Amino acid sequence: MENIRIELTKTPKAKPEIKGIPFGTHFTDHMFLLDYEKGRGWFDPRIVPYGPISLPPSAMVFHYAQEIFEGLKAYRTPAGGIQLFRPEENIARMAASCERLCIPEIPAELFLAALKKLVEVERDWVPAEPSASLYLRPFVIATDPHVGVHVSHGYLFAIIACPVGSYYPEGMSPVKILIEAEDVRAVRGGTGTAKCGGNYAASLRAQERAGELGYSQVLWLDGVHREYIEEVGAMNVMFKLGGKIVTPALLGTVLPGITRKSCIELLRGWGYVVEEREISVTELLLAIDSGDLEEAFGTGTAAVISPIGEIAYAGKTHEVSGFQIGELTQKLYDTLTGIQWGTAPDPYGWCVRVC
Ligand SMILES: *Cc1c(COP(=O)(O)O)cnc(C)c1O
Repeated sequence: MENIRIELTKTPKAKPEIKGIPFGTHFTDHMFLLDYEKGRGWFDPRIVPYGPISLPPSAMVFHYAQEIFEGLKAYRTPAGGIQLFRPEENIARMAASCERLCIPEIPAELFLAALKKLVEVERDWVPAEPSASLYLRPFVIATDPHVGVHVSHGYLFAIIACPVGSYYPEGMSPVKILIEAEDVRAVRGGTGTAKCGGNYAASLRAQERAGELGYSQVLWLDGVHREYIEEVGAMNVMFKLGGKIVTPALLGTVLPGITRKSCIELLRGWGYVVEEREISVTELLLAIDSGDLEEAFGTGTAAVISPIGEIAYAGKTHEVSGFQIGELTQKLYDTLTGIQWGTAPDPYGWCVRVC
């Protein structure tokens, strides 16, 4: 594979004030691009000025949604260095998404080199404010100019980057969630375990409806019985129940989150029993109402940990943890963010230094 070619912008942008910029709205000066053609493989890795991508209206991604993405962050440490959190996990998950969507896999070494090089080129864009970071969004789109359903022969892989402020500018606070009984996010054999845009398109209606009712996220149930809990919005979900941690097992519909995996590893390291299993909405609501449910939270790269303070189902609301942040929820948040921002030890060697 060739070296990454770099073409620097002649018109660098002013850096926005990090405080108050909405997530994912301000992009850096450069982006990484890599092309694919059948017979030739992936070629021409390059970092070029950030700007529009030109595609024919017939490009397959517009019609058949052959698209996948990833999300990770670059963090500035107190010493001024920059690091990534478990990027090899994102690379492995992208490979799994590629396989599901019939997209040729991106060579792992090149993918990691591209992440590091882009962050290095954009190092001045990695914010130093507390809890701020540079969000990285790798994605692949099918580019064949062909309105006809088949596996595309051409692809574009890109990485764009945007500085993001703290997810909790006012401090971490519990959210209200609504159990969605009608729409489903995924079914076994579908694309629920792949990080593909199509899953999100299908989730918008429920998210909109929940928003109108004053809920910030949807709690998804399984598509067969509408009974087993799967995820909360675009996060995995965990419950502290009778002293143990319970989280839905990865049985083919739940997205295998890297924050989820990291929480499980931390929790087991602290001596907790973590059960990856099916958990029904009946069991959950009974546990809330009997007081057995001690804590509930979502896990994902954007928010890291999102405490759940209220769950609504079938017209009834159920308060969780007295609408307070649970002790373990807070400990997981502090530990993970400490590792990610380099303010706490990294006992598992999860961070990868960029510069
Ligand atoms: C990305 C994502 C998650 C969280 O994954 P992380 O690797 O922890 O960021 C959870 N659920 C869905 C549906 C996702 O797309």
